[in-house]
Amino acid sequence: MSKTIFFTPGPSQLYPTVTKHIKLALKENIPSLSHRSSKYSAIQQEVCKNLRILLNIPDDYLMFVGGSATFFMEKIGQNLIEKNSFHFVNGAFSKKFMQICSKLGKNAQNFTVEEGKGFGIDKICIPQESELLAFTATETSTGVQLPQNFIYEIAKQNPKKLIALDVVSAIPYYQLDYKYIDAMFFSVQKGFGLPSGLGIAFCSPRAIEKSRSILDKGVSIGSYYGFPEVAKDAQNFQTPETPNVLDMYLLNKVIQDILAKGLDQIIQETESKAKSIYNFFEQSPNFKIFVNNQYYRSQTVIVIDYDKSKVLIDKLSKKGLILGTGYGNKKDSQFRIANFPAISKEKINLLLKEISQN
Ligand SMILES: *Cc1c(COP(=O)(O)O)cnc(C)c1O
Repeated sequence: MSKTIFFTPGPSQLYPTVTKHIKLALKENIPSLSHRSSKYSAIQQEVCKNLRILLNIPDDYLMFVGGSATFFMEKIGQNLIEKNSFHFVNGAFSKKFMQICSKLGKNAQNFTVEEGKGFGIDKICIPQESELLAFTATETSTGVQLPQNFIYEIAKQNPKKLIALDVVSAIPYYQLDYKYIDAMFFSVQKGFGLPSGLGIAFCSPRAIEKSRSILDKGVSIGSYYGFPEVAKDAQNFQTPETPNVLDMYLLNKVIQDILAKGLDQIIQETESKAKSIYNFFEQSPNFKIFVNNQYYRSQTVIVIDYDKSKVLIDKLSKKGLILGTGYGNKKDSQFRIANFPAISKEKINLLLKEISQN
C-alpha cells in the first residue's frame, strides 16, 4: 500500500474502503456486467435509494447518471434553458458553468464577485427573463462555501425560476433542503473519494417539465441526453449510454459505508478538522487564509495564500503528502487542502505538523 496521502481537491484521497470494494468488484466481474442487465439496474436503484437517504432528496426527483459534473453543466444548459440563464460567479467552476451555457448559444448573464468573496443578497438584480439561476455550493477554486440560507432566499424570491446547484466538492458534508433545488449535480472524485469518471444529477419534476416544454417549442435540447427521454430510462434505473458500471458499484458501497458510520459523525469530524486547519493558519504569520470572511469559508476545501507555495508543495510531496496547488493563475501563490471524509483527523494533524516544521 502506498503511503502517499492526497490532500488535493479532486481527484482526491480514496475513501479508505475503496480498495477492498474494488477487489470484490473484480472478483464479482462487475466491470463486465451489461448495463442492460437487471443486476446493473439493481445497483443504480440502490445508489438512487441510498443517495436519497444520505442527502434527503425528495422522492419525486429523478436520478440521472453521466460522465462528470461538467457533462451535467452542459446537459442542464441544453435542457433547462430556452434563452436566458443567470449565474452566480465567484470562481473558476461557477464561471465554467456560465461559459458552457454561453457556448450553447444561451444568454448566460451573471453576477460576479471577486474571488474569495461571497454574495451580498441586497446588491443582486436578477432579470425578469432569467429561466434558471445557477449556484456553486463550494467554489473549489477559491474555498468559498455558499450559506444555504442565501440559496433559499433567492429561490423564495424567484419562485418561477429553476434553481441549479453544483454540489461537487460540498457533499456529503453540505446538507440542504432540496425542495428549493431543481437540478443538483456532482462528480464522485471529490467528497466521495472515488475514482473519477462518473457524474450524478437529481432533477425535480418541474425541471423535466421545463425540458419537455423547450422541446415542444422545437428548440434543440441536444441529441441523446434529452431529459424527457432520460427520465423514462431513469424510472427503470437505466441510462441512455453505457455508464461507468464499476464506479456506480463503488459509489453504492461507499455511500453505504458513510451511512453505516453516520452522516452526523462525518459532519462533526469535517467541522472539527476544518477548525484545526483554519486555527493553524490563523496563528501562522507566514500564511493567509484566502477567504477573509469566516461566514463564507468552506469546510471541505481550504485555500491558503502563500508566496512560496511551490517550494512547500514540492517539499511535502517528497514526504508523501500531496497538497493541491492554487487554481489557475494562483498556481504558485496559493495551495489548497481538501478536507473530505476520506482524510482522517490524524492525517490532517500530520500535515499541519509537517507544515509547521517547514
Ligand atoms: C471539480 C469540479 C467540477 C468539475 O468536475 P468534473 O468531474 O471534472 O466534471 C465542477 N464543479 C466543481 C465545484 C468542482 O469542484
